[in-house]
Amino acid sequence: MHLDLDAFFCSVEVLRDPSLKDKPIVVGGRSENRGVVAAASYPARKFGIHSAMPMIEATRRCKDLIVISSQHGLYRMYSKVIMGILRAESPIIQQVSIDEAYLDLSDEVDQWIEATEIARKIQMRISRDIGLSASVGIATNKMIAKIASDFQKPNGLTVVLPGQEVEFLSPLPVKKIPGIGPKATARLAKYGIYRVQDMSVISEEKLVQRFGKMGSAMTRWSKGIDDRPVHEDHETKSISTERTFSKNIEAQDELLEVIEKLSFKVAEQLKKKKFMAATITVKFRYADFTTYTRQHTLAEPVDDGLEICRIAQKLLVKNWMPGEPVRLLGVGGSHFSEPHGQLSLGLGV
Ligand SMILES: [Mg+2]
Repeated sequence: MHLDLDAFFCSVEVLRDPSLKDKPIVVGGRSENRGVVAAASYPARKFGIHSAMPMIEATRRCKDLIVISSQHGLYRMYSKVIMGILRAESPIIQQVSIDEAYLDLSDEVDQWIEATEIARKIQMRISRDIGLSASVGIATNKMIAKIASDFQKPNGLTVVLPGQEVEFLSPLPVKKIPGIGPKATARLAKYGIYRVQDMSVISEEKLVQRFGKMGSAMTRWSKGIDDRPVHEDHETKSISTERTFSKNIEAQDELLEVIEKLSFKVAEQLKKKKFMAATITVKFRYADFTTYTRQHTLAEPVDDGLEICRIAQKLLVKNWMPGEPVRLLGVGGSHFSEPHGQLSLGLGV
């Protein structure tokens, strides 16, 4: 699954100031002479305005254009919350930019309809909880999922079923393939290659002759072949699960029971990601919202639910004030290494 937020920066600005809704706005450098458009709202795009366009050109195209200086800190904050929503649906997620991510659902679902349901759920949560919209593409590989997410923007959901890859790609202009930029598009046009279909009927030999290494890639792309895996976020530094209770808990055995469940969830996620955690963390929040995090680091990293549970329960018993009502409990693992390998400090596994 590939998810891409729709006109992300501009949509965040509309959230902040609803009077901007349906107006041509751009986010970017304010300086009219040197600034560049970082993002354009859909109404602005109707004037041919797009990102990377000089601001001066944008204001020339639309007299009523509203220029907003970008607030990256704010966008990053929204991005983080949204990536959190994605992470709740799939343990394997690769964030590729502030507003874009791939999810590998292969282990999560058995049928395509389930993937579609997850996509709808994510879109609904992003819209209901945040007020933004996202477009989603689902396919057998990353390249097609990415093209699919762009297929029905905004708020689109496009599913390309197994076996339909070539049929989906064939009529598209070659520039829709990520990796084929304006330069390659222009060169392909010289040879009369405009659509993916045109590209697919040219022999790999010929494409290599004309485009070098990229020629082989073009042959693969035109056949819808892409075997790149969804890489774990390199920023994944910890795995944690938590639960907020509808009613505060003050009995120790109940708390320990919750810790057990959470520990096994953490273990499951660690195993899925092929990580082992050297540090186990317990987080608890009292009724008055004071929150404590306590951790223990082991000589040997673990990914076993019982092990994690044993440490987490000890941490809780040692630090929790008996009888004090708890409204939230969490268990986490960090300081990863790969199973049976060296403890990696860089974490860029
Ligand atoms: Mg986007």
